[in-house]
Amino acid sequence: MTSPCYRHADREGRFFCQKDMKYMCEECACCHSPRVYCQYRTACMIDLLTREGDLEACDEKPRRSQIR
Ligand SMILES: [Zn+2]
Repeated sequence: MTSPCYRHADREGRFFCQKDMKYMCEECACCHSPRVYCQYRTACMIDLLTREGDLEACDEKPRRSQIR
């Protein structure tokens, strides 16, 4: 049993962002703050797949800042 996507409750959250602590489906999976330092990035599957072109890179959207 996996957790659902944080935006799509009916979708499987196949990707997990350790920084944001969020599960994401394939559509949502992307680094949401690529310019912000992330201690998990070296082991982040989302970042790896984005760099390899398997995931679409999303633009950093100016959202409510959750940077600690
Ligand atoms: Zn989703």
